[in-house]
Order: sequence, then structure tokens, then C-alpha cells
Amino acid sequence: MALEKTLVLLKPCTIQRAIAGEIISIFEKKGLKICGMKMMQLTDEILSEHYAHLAEKPFFQRVKNSMMTAPVVALCLEGVDAIAAVRALAGPTNGRNAAPGTIRGSYCMSFQENIVHASDSPETAAAELKRFFKPEEIFDWNQCTFNYLYANDEF
Ligand code: ADP
Repeated sequence: MALEKTLVLLKPCTIQRAIAGEIISIFEKKGLKICGMKMMQLTDEILSEHYAHLAEKPFFQRVKNSMMTAPVVALCLEGVDAIAAVRALAGPTNGRNAAPGTIRGSYCMSFQENIVHASDSPETAAAELKRFFKPEEIFDWNQCTFNYLYANDEF
């Protein structure tokens, strides 16, 4: 168990569908602490870096184009084992296969237009937070509910 920070992007489909607040609320209600939050217009350059692992895929450019159709909201979320917890909450990539109750299972029907991006490992979380946030945009504030969110042997 470790206190972790992870990156979430609310994708353009989420902003367009006017459910950004609803999705942020899911993370808040789960108990994740919002340490950073901002709206950004992504560029081909940052997306080429962010999605470098998809560079050989036929849909690479299409995915990048989709991510530039409107701004995104970037979140830095913190919690115990937050990286895996947020991935589990997001559900698998293809919304059609995602279990009901997950974000993708509840809010989308698409492989591509799948509501959120979430970091998938401690290494990618660190690299992605650095990619989308300046150090001074991440706030280590005191979450006064912390002792009600975890037992004292969980962190
Ligand atoms: P995830 O976002 O679940 O970590 P990937 O890193 O594999 O998944 O892919 C990044 C994004 O690229 C996905 O969230 C999705 O928007 C898009 N994508 C991935 N695979 C496909 C696919 N087969 N068809 C369409 N879009 C895809």
C-alpha cells in the first residue's frame, strides 16, 4: 500500500457531453483527493508523446485528432493505491465491454470516446503528471477527512 498520485484526463467527449462535473464528482465521492485540476487545449506534439505507445496503430492520428477537438480537464488525484483504484474505476478501454458501475461502463459505448484517460503504472503516472502539470500546479493540501477514509494501517 502506498499513497500515490495519478493523472486523469477528462477527454473532449466528456466536456462536450457536459458530464465533466459528474465524473469529477465520482472521483471525489470515492475519496480521492484532488491535488491538481486545470483545463487545457492539447496539441499534436503533447499527444504524440502521451500516446507514443500507440504510434504504430492505424488509429494513432485519429485518436490524437479526437483529443484535440475540444479542451480536456486534467486532474491530479491522490489516494492509497490511487493508480490501480482509478484504473479499476475507469474500467477497460472499450466502453462496450466495461462493467456497469465503472465510469466507461456507465457513460460510454465507444473504444475511442471513452470519457477518461488514467495512468496505468507508477512510472507512467510520474511521467504523465510531469507532462501535464507544472510543480506549482499540484497542491499538497491537508484533506481533513483522511482519517475517515482509511484505517491507520492503510497508509
Ligand atoms: P487506455 O486509455 O485504456 O489506457 P490505451 O493506452 O491502449 O488505453 O489507448 C489510449 C486511447 O486510445 C484509449 O483510451 C482510446 O481512446 C484509444 N484507443 C485505444 N485502442 C483503440 C482501438 N482499438 N480503437 C479505437 N480507439 C482506441
